[in-house]
Amino acid sequence: MAELEGLYQEVILDHSKKPRNFHSMADADRHADGYNPLCGDRFTVYLKLKDDKIVDISFQGTGCAISTASASILTEILKGKTRAQAEALFETFRDLVTGKIHANGETPALGKLAAFSGVCEFPVRVKCATLVWHTLRSALEGDPEVVATE
Ligand code: ZN
Repeated sequence: MAELEGLYQEVILDHSKKPRNFHSMADADRHADGYNPLCGDRFTVYLKLKDDKIVDISFQGTGCAISTASASILTEILKGKTRAQAEALFETFRDLVTGKIHANGETPALGKLAAFSGVCEFPVRVKCATLVWHTLRSALEGDPEVVATE
């Protein structure tokens, strides 16, 4: 498992063991479910929106260390961000985990998300890392085809 050391960095381990904003939200404006059949990751993202801003965000579900940490860090980073900022960060994050860009001083916006830079060496893990971002996008778009209606 030595090659995984770079992947499971301290930040990822911390967030997977103690996920932040890990709860459901009864009064959420939007929510969406995401499922990654390759790994079995399954999450629900909850959002409160005011105008175009994410004023509150949380998640619930089960998944591997990568998907759980990604969800936890996402909720931490996106609280208070606008929809456009969230979308831009998703693009940057996706470029990082697919190896198109590398975590260096040129991408300070990534913050803690830079911990996922090792994911690009494990293509099967890319879906784990991006699952919650796709789920967030569904929630933001309020797409009735994707959002679960209970
Ligand atoms: Zn996974």
